[in-house]
This record gives sequence, C-alpha cells and structure tokens, in this order.
Amino acid sequence: MQFRDLNAQYSALKGDIDTAISEVLEAENFISGRQVVELEQRLAEFVGVKHCITCGNGTDALTLALMAWEIGEGDAVFVPDFTFFASGEVVAFEGAIPIFVDVESDTYNISPEKLEEAILRVKKDGKLVPRVIIAVDLFGQPADYFKIREIAYKYNLLILEDGAQGFGGRIGMQRACSFGDISTTSFFPAKPLGCYGDGGAVFTDNDEWAGLIRSLCIHGKGDNKYDNVRLGMNSRLDTLQAAVLLAKFPKFKSFELDSVNQVAEKYKELLRNNVVTPEVKDGFYSSWAQYTIQLKDEKQRDDLQMYLKEHGIPSMIYYPKAMHKQQAFSKIESDDKDFPNTLKLCKTVLSLPMHPYMKRKTIEEIANAVWASTGNRVMN
Ligand SMILES: *Cc1c(COP(=O)(O)O)cnc(C)c1O
Repeated sequence: MQFRDLNAQYSALKGDIDTAISEVLEAENFISGRQVVELEQRLAEFVGVKHCITCGNGTDALTLALMAWEIGEGDAVFVPDFTFFASGEVVAFEGAIPIFVDVESDTYNISPEKLEEAILRVKKDGKLVPRVIIAVDLFGQPADYFKIREIAYKYNLLILEDGAQGFGGRIGMQRACSFGDISTTSFFPAKPLGCYGDGGAVFTDNDEWAGLIRSLCIHGKGDNKYDNVRLGMNSRLDTLQAAVLLAKFPKFKSFELDSVNQVAEKYKELLRNNVVTPEVKDGFYSSWAQYTIQLKDEKQRDDLQMYLKEHGIPSMIYYPKAMHKQQAFSKIESDDKDFPNTLKLCKTVLSLPMHPYMKRKTIEEIANAVWASTGNRVMN
C-alpha cells in the first residue's frame, strides 16, 4: 500500500501524460514554452483571479510575494505554528521576523483569536512593524478567511495565502488561492495537484504586484532577460512540468477532487467513533492534501503508527515539531504557553493514506487496523 499512490494516477492518465511529454521533447521548448502560458491561463481561470505566474516551487512562490511587498528587516509576519517549515522559513530568509500563532485544534488552521492577540502584542512591544499574515490552507482546508480578512483590515495588514496544500479547495464557491492579496501554491508531486518534479505558482488580482513578480522570478528582468532593473531570482516552472500539469488538470477537476472528498467521508464514517477525525467548517470544501486524525496521547499515536507499519500500512506524522521549537528559529523569543494546541497536535496527530485512487477495500482495511490498534471493536 502507498501513502499517496502516484502510480495509480499515472496508470489512469498514461496516454495523455506520455503524449504531453513527447510534445515538449519534440518541440525542444524546455523553458517558457507555450504550455507554461496555457497552464497559467487555465489556473487563473479556475481559481478566479486575474494573474497566475508559475515559478520553480511553492517556497519560491512565497518568497516572490514577500519580495514584491519588500518585506524585510524590522517587519513582523504572522505565521501558524503548525505548518510545513517553508511557511516560516521564507519570512526569516527575507530578514523579517516570523511571529508564530497557535492553531485551532479541530481544523488545524491558524486561530483568528490568537492571531489578533499576537498582533496586539507586537504593536504594544513596538519593536517590529506588523506587515503580513501568512495563512496556510493546511491539509487542504482553506483557513478562516472571513475572520482573517476582518483582522487584516482592522490592523492594515496584507494576507499571503499559502495554498501549497489547498489548491482545489474552496469556501462557498470561492476557490483557494484567491483569498490572499497574493496567494501561492506548490506542484510538488504529493500535493493535491502535483507535477513530476518541483513547481509552484503565485496568484493575484493586482496588476502591479503581478508585473513585479514576473520580473523578480526571471533575474529582475526589465524589457527582456538581458535588461535587469532589479535583483531577482531564477525561478521558473519548466515546460515539461507545465505539460504534465495540463495533462493532469482535467481529471483533477472532474474526478480527483470529488474522489478525495468521498475517501474522507468514508474514513469519517468508519473512524469517527474511535478517534478524532478532521473537521471541515460549514461551507468549506477541502482538497484533502492529508487526512489527519488525532489520538488520545503520544503513546497511543506511536503505538498506532507502529501497528500500521507492521501491517503494511504507511502513515506520516505531519508535523512532529512546532515551528517555534525548530532550531532554525531558536533566536526568536517564544513561550510554550502560547501554543497549547500546536504542542498537543505534534504529539497526537497521524496522517493516513489519502489519494483519489484509493479503493473502498483499502479504506476499510486501514480503518480496521486503526480500530484494532486503539483497542476498540474490529469490524469485518
Ligand atoms: C509543500 C509546502 C510548501 C513548499 O512547497 P515546495 O514546492 O516544496 O517548495 C510551502 N508551504 C506548505 C504549507 C507546504 O505544504
């Protein structure tokens, strides 16, 4: 059994993907080919924003947004304490200070109440200027942008939506990657929409920022690549990856998003009486980058992971360490008592296999193993 079975997806789409790849090889348009332009148009249309700019990966996408906003020394950027390292890394890399914020224990996303407290604390302290909120759509569910937008408005902050795991999700009819002033995603192979290598994209309705980011991702280009008006980086999505994404995209929209939601429903039905299953807010729709349950305590979690492993079922701990506990951030002052939910989650979460090509039988096998290990009824 695989945690995320990319081979099952390839088998289902082999004809289209192979053709798409050969077309690039034959045209030899490896960088900035027509497929890149077409993909950007399709993604912008799907998300419902004016501009999509593809780039090298999801981390660069976040960095490009911060660069466009000139975030740096003396700035405070608010980041959830429970997320992948990159969400906070990019802030410190630009010379700004990431201020970590506890999450909601049921949705795993940044807590709007804790966010407002953190903003007030930074303002009162007076050493840093609050500039940006990085809201992460963790495990596929959009963060609570109703409340976050209100807070951003009240304190005059920009929202950067880290939609690396959230592409395909929505709130009502509004798609993920349209909630930030700038939003980003990643096409890392295991993400909801993944390519066959690294890839990422930036989304925004703002013409000026879009223009800046187009320049920043190609060496700060002016009129052309050899006219350089600012310092930038070399971060592009290559044509092969764009072609793979174009080949995958129709099925992502027509089948995969529905399918992962059905898998999540089935998991919930089988597991809800035994472990804490993930909560999706009313009117929110997840793209289920991960299906993450919570156990009673660390021992039950570790025992379960071992039991699953012995029975050939892969599982992952996303995430074992709070951001404020990472050694890379040890210079930033923080206090464990501000992060009760994150600290508990790091000890109790476990992510189970999740992908659109999972068979009902496999879900049942996993659920039975969870029941068996956690000491409850075994179903047949
Ligand atoms: C994967 C991920 C990133 C980084 O994406 P890469 O393409 O791997 O650089 C950033 N933020 C979150 C929340 C992620 O899950």
